Amino acid sequence: MRAVCGIAHGTGKRLGLVPSMGALHEGHLSLVRAAKGQCDVVAVSIFVNPTQFGPNEDFAKYPRTFDQDCVLLEKEDVDLIFAPSVDEMYPPNAVTVVTVEGLSNKLCGKSRPGHFRGVTTVVSKLFHIVEPDVAFFGQKDAAQVAIIRRMVRDLNLPVQIAVCPIVREADGLAMSSRNSYLNPQQRKSALVLYRSLMQVQKQFEGGEHNSAKLIATAKEVFAEEPSVRLDYFEIVDPGTLGALSDVSQPALVAVAAFVGKTRLIDNITLRL
Ligand code: AMP
Repeated sequence: MRAVCGIAHGTGKRLGLVPSMGALHEGHLSLVRAAKGQCDVVAVSIFVNPTQFGPNEDFAKYPRTFDQDCVLLEKEDVDLIFAPSVDEMYPPNAVTVVTVEGLSNKLCGKSRPGHFRGVTTVVSKLFHIVEPDVAFFGQKDAAQVAIIRRMVRDLNLPVQIAVCPIVREADGLAMSSRNSYLNPQQRKSALVLYRSLMQVQKQFEGGEHNSAKLIATAKEVFAEEPSVRLDYFEIVDPGTLGALSDVSQPALVAVAAFVGKTRLIDNITLRL
């Protein structure tokens, strides 16, 4: 991978990287299309990264659809697919990690200890292997975006970060590889995440800027769907991920909830 990326660099080509865990859907493909639009050579990595999963999470059962992913990426005319094995990415006794202190314990980092450390470690490894000019991430994982931006800034990594909007199903559910875990009943219940965000947006547009009141509204929406267990509903600064008491600046409204055993996330940004 290093050799082939080196050739792209050597010939002055602009190289884009789309990191992914595979089980590709339209959300991933939107990043690929953005990369194709901005870069001469596009690489997609497919790696289900064990270090970002907790001991009781879904690493073993995470959907792996490599052959289908390759077909989709060939259709998009992707130049390079990087799908390393776990052993290749983590040699024996690998003990070095990258942690973005103070951000990686916020939002999903609170309920998934160690998750963001796994993400920043693997993403920095991918950046060193590929040395992309631009790397593409989805706004779907808004905390991940804040944390990776901070890592890139703090460690002077020579890569530009591009962020693409959330791609949704027709009814509003944010696309996710984990949606494949949902049975038809759960698929309907899962819409409560989007509904709560839309209700908050409506109330915000109606003049309510107090975070506690907006969050209370969201919790009422969740109360109507008792089969879904709310993990968090927060209104935070999109850069620091710190809680905002009111929305007087752009604010990230982020939600995570369990639908059965499936943990889903979603978010919107509110601007005055
Ligand atoms: P994953 O395979 O879940 O690690 O996701 C790989 C990349 O795709 C991440 O940057 C995600 O934020 C992005 N992504 C996943 N789902 C969506 C979506 N529905 N819309 C936009 N980007 C997404």
